[in-house]
Amino acid sequence: MSERACLLCAVYRRDAAPRPYERPQVDEACRHRLDNQINDVRNLFLRLANPEPAPVDDRRYARLDKGRPTGEYRLADPTAAVGGMAPTRGRSNQPNVSGSKEPGLPIDITTVDLLAPARIGSVRDTLVPATEPEPATVTGRRVVVGPDGPEIEQVEYQILAKRPVLDESGQQKMVPTGDQTGPISVATVLDEIVRDWRDALFPHEHLPVPTVPTLTAWLLNRSTTACDRHPAIADHAAEIRQIRGALYRALGEGEPLPQVMWGVLCRTDGCNDVSQLVKRPESAYHVECDACGRLYTEQEYHEWTKHLANQIRPKGRRSAGGLPAWATATAEALQAPAGAADRRAPTPASQPDQG
Ligand SMILES: [Zn+2]
Ligand SMILES: [Zn+2]
Repeated sequence: MSERACLLCAVYRRDAAPRPYERPQVDEACRHRLDNQINDVRNLFLRLANPEPAPVDDRRYARLDKGRPTGEYRLADPTAAVGGMAPTRGRSNQPNVSGSKEPGLPIDITTVDLLAPARIGSVRDTLVPATEPEPATVTGRRVVVGPDGPEIEQVEYQILAKRPVLDESGQQKMVPTGDQTGPISVATVLDEIVRDWRDALFPHEHLPVPTVPTLTAWLLNRSTTACDRHPAIADHAAEIRQIRGALYRALGEGEPLPQVMWGVLCRTDGCNDVSQLVKRPESAYHVECDACGRLYTEQEYHEWTKHLANQIRPKGRRSAGGLPAWATATAEALQAPAGAADRRAPTPASQPDQG
């Protein structure tokens, strides 16, 4: 099991044991998850880049002269003539004193950061020499007044000194200061992953144009090979997941939560006895088993639940007695639209049961 553990389970299912894979190095469900997330990044990016136009207040009022209409009209919002104006921060009523906060920029900096073009070797942080604290003894002198007049006494202090850290070759080691804030642009993150995949797996290919739609298309076309062979696929999946979260936050939305399909068993033999099937709203595969990674299309899931419902309900009875409430409830709910009519027809004998 351990040598066949899916690499991406550590990214997508951190609380669960990694599922074994069929094809190295990633199981089928995690492959789909990666593709979905790349797709999400593309769609979310396009939504953030092309926001809905702000509503323009274009109401007009008749211009009056001493209570009588002049026949002219004026706009309720004068800026409506030029397409309206985004809400901007008002000036504070408080006097401006030293220590007042710098007024914020009238733009959304996070959005501007995320939408910025790809920059190779983006400055993530300034590098400064690494140091580590080290206890040191410092000798000082001070003047004390003794019986024979003033004299000089030596005192020893314990201090924490900063010692520079050297690497194996004796060079000064440099570390990021950690003073850079704000997200790296989506295009930069994707472009770095594209370069990494190209260098490792497709050395003869040209790099795509570094725009988000082109980069995501390039990644989607090669994600199968990357899942099969790229050693750092988990790092890349984590970066894509992170940038997807940043895009959701910039749009002011939460990630859609998976919906647990309670009371439905998995189709895989011996998979589990507790429902682990989840429906991911964004997935091409309708339902996924979180335990074994089996994927169900909408059709497959529908047929499987229909089959389960038929197994649970004794033939010719409207209600299944003696079964736990969740089983009958699920079966009833699932069969109500399609199955109810044709099942009752061939068994008129069961009618007295109900009345
Ligand atoms: Zn996995
Ligand atoms: Zn399963």
